[in-house]
Amino acid sequence: MQINTRMLIDGELVDGADTLDVTNPATAAPFITVARADAEQLDKAVAAAKAAAPAWAALGWEARGALLSRLADALEAQRDEMARLLTTEQGKPIRQATGEVIGAIYQLRYYAAQRGEPRVIKETESFRVIEHRTPLGVVAAITPWNFPLLMVVQKIAPALVSGNTVVAKPAATTPVCALKLAELAAGIFPAGVLNIIVDANDLGGALSAHPDVAKVSFTGSTATGRRVMAAGADALKRITLELGGNDAAIILDDVDAKDIAPKIFNGAMVNAGQVCLAIKRVYAPASMYDELCSELARLAAEATVDDGFNQGAQVGPVQNRMQYEKLLDLLADSAANGKVIAGGQPVDRDGYFIAPTIVRDIADDARLVREEQFGPILPVLSYESLDEVVSRANDSEYGLGGTIWTSDTDRGIEVAMRIDSGTVWVNQHLNLPFDVPFGGSKQSGIGREGGDEGIQAYTQPHIINVAL
Ligand code: ADP
Repeated sequence: MQINTRMLIDGELVDGADTLDVTNPATAAPFITVARADAEQLDKAVAAAKAAAPAWAALGWEARGALLSRLADALEAQRDEMARLLTTEQGKPIRQATGEVIGAIYQLRYYAAQRGEPRVIKETESFRVIEHRTPLGVVAAITPWNFPLLMVVQKIAPALVSGNTVVAKPAATTPVCALKLAELAAGIFPAGVLNIIVDANDLGGALSAHPDVAKVSFTGSTATGRRVMAAGADALKRITLELGGNDAAIILDDVDAKDIAPKIFNGAMVNAGQVCLAIKRVYAPASMYDELCSELARLAAEATVDDGFNQGAQVGPVQNRMQYEKLLDLLADSAANGKVIAGGQPVDRDGYFIAPTIVRDIADDARLVREEQFGPILPVLSYESLDEVVSRANDSEYGLGGTIWTSDTDRGIEVAMRIDSGTVWVNQHLNLPFDVPFGGSKQSGIGREGGDEGIQAYTQPHIINVAL
């Protein structure tokens, strides 16, 4: 099978000025060499997007949506192939990879069906006000390595259907799925409408500061998000930032520890914990603490950690060496500051595998509790009262998600209302419908993706005010 290694610039699949080796995290060995852009190719991609913008905006929602539907069809026809590439470059178990590809297909179809025709927002006897939502121009879509396909689609689909043109840049350690998407898109969109370039983690700054980029939609770490915001200041760019989280799972005293433990475990370990909205810290009532800790430790010890292609793999490798080393450091710190009751070590094999780890009796100010671990390491903390746990959960610079677990839905909603974050789930985790806005409070981000709010973020109101 032929894997596309070329970028999409101005309608053509092109080689890079340079090349980039991509590593399979399950082996820690490079498996492919792909095109890598230099600054000149970045400029070319932005120039192509700028040139394509007026005609694309003039095409209208329906015609743009029809082309997005074609991309959805093309992706559907390559679903299994895309899932295999995803597991190879990202590491997640193949079932999760297939789920990601299906999510991307649904997302393309959802946005393909969106319409934003002008509408009257106010009318009196003497005047009529029409709101016409117009695209912003060139959108830069900068994405991370935890969901290499879904994150790209989550940005390009709403940007394109609303009439913007795009330069997308996937993370340097996971460009292969994005290049496959580039190959599928090449025959579908007019030249320049969608450009996909690859860097070695060196072009994000230039792309987000580029004077011809009107908006940056960024998903990644809070530290890099700050840089994107600063880079956009001169040109007063529009920005959407989906950044880190340190989501608390608060378990109320009316649930059964054995019932709840697998849900908490899965919510923390999905994608080896590399999800901005994963459960990152667990708060259990003191009366349930010992039992919950030992259930979680049992699940961690029993979990199958393996190459995502192997039957039964539940937890794959972490995606890259930098993250792996960061987690090893965090493991050492957690062992010094808490009690490790499962895992605590890398797995003795090639690749970036870390045994699912449960840490108890750890202080609120330990690094594992304060920082975003972004890996399969979970701290479990004990609490006495509801007021206390709500204040500890909120005591974070992050505010992305969170969960409340209870047998009393109304009580769950009441507690959820007090959590300062963009999304709080009650008795479920990671339910993210495309028509519901999602994003962060505090330093977890600015703006929302999804829902009407998410689409509006790719347009601006253009008001026509008519005297009658
Ligand atoms: P991680 O997700 O590894 O913590 P980042 O938040 O740095 O890392 O990465 C998310 C995306 O941001 C990647 O595509 C990366 O290449 C890109 N990026 C890195 N540095 C910058 C920067 N200064 N400006 C914009 N994007 C950047």
